[in-house]
Amino acid sequence: MTTYDYDLLTIGGGSGGVRASRFAAQYGARVALAEKSALGGTCVNLGCIPKKLMSYAAHFDADFADAAGFGWQLGEAKFDWATLMANKDREIKRLNGVYGKTLEQASVEVLDGHAQIEDAHTVLVNGRRITARFILIATGGRPTRPVFPGSEHGITSDEFFHLDALPARAVVTGGGYIAVELASILNGLGSKVTLIYRGNRLLRTMDHDLGPFLAAEMVKKGIDVRFDTVIESIHADGDGVDDGVDNVKHLQVNQLGRGHEIDAECVLFATGRHANIASLGLEKAGIAVRENGSIVVDDQFKTCIASIYAIGDVIDRVALTPVALAEGMVVAANLFQQAERGQRGLSYENIPTAVFSHPNVATVGLTEQDARKKYGTVKIFKSEFRALKHTLSGSTERTLMKLVVDADSDRVLGLHMVGPDAGELVQGFAVALQCQATKAQFDATIGIHPTLAEEFVSMRTAV
Ligand code: NDP
Repeated sequence: MTTYDYDLLTIGGGSGGVRASRFAAQYGARVALAEKSALGGTCVNLGCIPKKLMSYAAHFDADFADAAGFGWQLGEAKFDWATLMANKDREIKRLNGVYGKTLEQASVEVLDGHAQIEDAHTVLVNGRRITARFILIATGGRPTRPVFPGSEHGITSDEFFHLDALPARAVVTGGGYIAVELASILNGLGSKVTLIYRGNRLLRTMDHDLGPFLAAEMVKKGIDVRFDTVIESIHADGDGVDDGVDNVKHLQVNQLGRGHEIDAECVLFATGRHANIASLGLEKAGIAVRENGSIVVDDQFKTCIASIYAIGDVIDRVALTPVALAEGMVVAANLFQQAERGQRGLSYENIPTAVFSHPNVATVGLTEQDARKKYGTVKIFKSEFRALKHTLSGSTERTLMKLVVDADSDRVLGLHMVGPDAGELVQGFAVALQCQATKAQFDATIGIHPTLAEEFVSMRTAV
């Protein structure tokens, strides 16, 4: 029998890679994990965690304004970017350590360095040959940079989290998760923000009511949202290198054929992400990839090479941390857990997700549009209102809540929200959808008063 250095060698120490490695080791496998930078991947270092911390920071602006209506008189509020960055970096460093400790406690050996696949069972880590019975690719994704004259003067989310200062004026381009989240953060912290989107509905893959509602709220908060607009070129003052926030950038933009100029200290591209496969040796190993670079896998996350698996953003199915975690657990169980070997699958239905824009957006299940296509007749319950808090705060922020129900079976197919803490609220309702709850069961559920959430069990008349 062939002997290998390890049973599993994981490439990539992000959410999916760490979870798969840890569980594989718990099931008795000898596991190593190769990572060339900090443990925790995009989520911990350049995504979910720093973004959420900065989103908290950006919420204080509205909170201070809301406080006056409740009798609070506050002095002049001042924001210090350097303090936020230092505190955020300290927390990320702590989390890097937690990931390292978790792997150590699970007896997963961490190999520090770049990994390149040689063949079906061999990986070079910093030039050292290592063999494994199975190889798992969990290398995640990278932000995509558009290419046009002067685009080198723009930054991506990777650089955003390490800017030296808060830009006085920022242009964010894109209409997806990252664009609306980072535009909201910059706006809340005090930048003058222009959001440029080539389409005409933000979050266009979500239910069609959400994007326009969010856009209206973002405009109320002071963001200049421009649809059907593209950046044609950027010209920077100064030495012309990408400097984040120091020099003024002059943007030539085109909105439905009409050109005009916008000036900003920072231009941020939030124009999608692509699979991180550079120098992985996929071609040499014969691993099939799609045109966009993402790795092709089957239902059990196996690539076209029987001993090599891939999970997470690098397979470009659903680019969310909890999905990568679930995929990692499936691979670990299928390969190494005696009781479940080869049996576990993963359903991509009813994956809840939140966008930490201001206000938040969260959703689970089908959009109205997809539900109509799949089920024919659907009933829509919708509520749009000003939250109780804002009757005193004076804020004009509004909340949207929506249910999509199958007219035949009465099953709730989709649940969507734009409003405060939408993610916290929708997580709970996701369990109900997972259990195939009906509208009648929603109606039979007693509300908690006064909350926003009670609206989801109180909507009685279909629109
Ligand atoms: P998205 O795919 O969500 O959005 C990309 C946006 O960029 C789209 O609006 C797209 O326009 C636009 N775009 C693409 N190419 C260009 C171009 N050349 N010029 C101008 N605009 C362009 O990507 P994100 O980068 O925002 O996020 C990537 C993924 O990461 C998300 O889909 C999500 O899965 C995950 N994520 C999750 C978060 C969360 O859970 N809260 C937070 C952040 C990211 P169009 O609509 O016309 O295609």
